[in-house]
Amino acid sequence: MTDAPTRESGVETDEQFRLRLRAFLTENHPGKRPRGVLDRRAWQKAWLATLYDAGFAGPSWPREYGGMELSFAQQVIYQEEYARARVPGPQGTGLGIAAPTIIKYGTPEQKERFLRPMLRGDEVWAQGYSEPGAGSDLPSLRTTARREAGGEEYVVNGQKVWNTHADHADILFCLVRTGTQESRQKGITYLLIDAHAPGVTVRPLRDLTGGEHFTEIFFNDVRVPVANRIGDENEGWPLVRTSLGHERAAGAMNQAATYRRVVDELIELARERGVASDPGVRDRLADFEIRVRIMRYSGMRTISDILSRGEPGPASSTSRLFITTFEQDLHEFAVDILGPDGLLLRDDPRAVQRGRWVGGFLSTRASTIGAGTAEIQRNTIAEQVLGLPRDPAMPPR
Ligand SMILES: Cc1cc2nc3c(=O)[nH]c(=O)nc-3n(C[C@H](O)[C@H](O)[C@H](O)COP(=O)(O)OP(=O)(O)OC[C@H]3O[C@@H](n4cnc5c(N)ncnc54)[C@H](O)[C@@H]3O)c2cc1C
Repeated sequence: MTDAPTRESGVETDEQFRLRLRAFLTENHPGKRPRGVLDRRAWQKAWLATLYDAGFAGPSWPREYGGMELSFAQQVIYQEEYARARVPGPQGTGLGIAAPTIIKYGTPEQKERFLRPMLRGDEVWAQGYSEPGAGSDLPSLRTTARREAGGEEYVVNGQKVWNTHADHADILFCLVRTGTQESRQKGITYLLIDAHAPGVTVRPLRDLTGGEHFTEIFFNDVRVPVANRIGDENEGWPLVRTSLGHERAAGAMNQAATYRRVVDELIELARERGVASDPGVRDRLADFEIRVRIMRYSGMRTISDILSRGEPGPASSTSRLFITTFEQDLHEFAVDILGPDGLLLRDDPRAVQRGRWVGGFLSTRASTIGAGTAEIQRNTIAEQVLGLPRDPAMPPR
């Protein structure tokens, strides 16, 4: 894509920025994605350090924390070139979710301690919000933190679940209960927990694709310094809103840029399979083409909202719902046009393109659950975007 909005910025024009970034990504490309999990993690980690050391990490982050603080146009260009180059993405859920929360609510010491190592990939972060009895209804969470050691430490007990990549995380950003169970969101605190601390047990959970991306985490008398609390005690809920908003918005532009490439590859697949002139197929392809363009504008709106208001706003739910339903439809369609070949998984030597389409079909089943289910996104859109009355079955905020 070359039609991103461009303007002069300082001494370097946006087009010069694009070319400089493209040259860097080409010259420093870390090569093909390794197959083994450990090799893949090392490959990704090394890449993040290369990116940071060259000053190409954190396009939206403030410069004082090692980011690039790019203009709107350059953030769009950055995401497009990044997706085009097919380099590894960021590690863990820290960058898109925890970082904006720490930037907004953290103390200067916390920003100094946590932000740069996260951006450079030296410390991997994972999110500990959900619990077996608290997913959509997050305010009912039960993992407790009580003060000990003269008030200098919290002692944490409880269980989290569905924690993406927590098996190799260094820091867990968690919600814990410091108030009574009845206080719901008024008794929740935002705590950063050392994943290697005594009493933390992380167990992998196998998903539909056979991968072990998820985990469950158990806290048994885990001691956490009060200095690791972001915001005030019992005041974690506004931070949750910030981080969930960013989670839903996270990567909206990046995904739009990636799916731009994927739609082109899907059109190519339809040609290769000899179905590209079928009117029904053409109709579906046109639909994906339209949706990927809408996604791009929606991603731009998210960047613009964050730049102007510091927050993605409730419209991040619209973006999230749009992208997740799109990616499910797209992979379902790809598997359809592959016919029986579409069932072959990556380990089968006859699999088309190493089984990527069926792999995507299986993994995107979870897209409309993570970061809040599609139903919850629709509720948010109804109440906070359209201004409709709150669901009477829901407890008051
Ligand atoms: C890919 C993926 C990654 C994830 N990563 C993480 C992570 O890193 N860290 C973390 O803490 N969690 C993570 N999660 C967990 C995720 O946030 C929860 O699964 C999600 O919030 C739903 O909660 P639940 O599974 O408990 O389902 P429930 O909340 O029990 O929902 C069950 C069903 O009821 C519906 N429902 C519930 N309440 C309402 C309502 N008020 N109105 C209408 N329908 C409703 C839901 O839409 C859903 O269909 C991840 C999940 C997935 C799939």
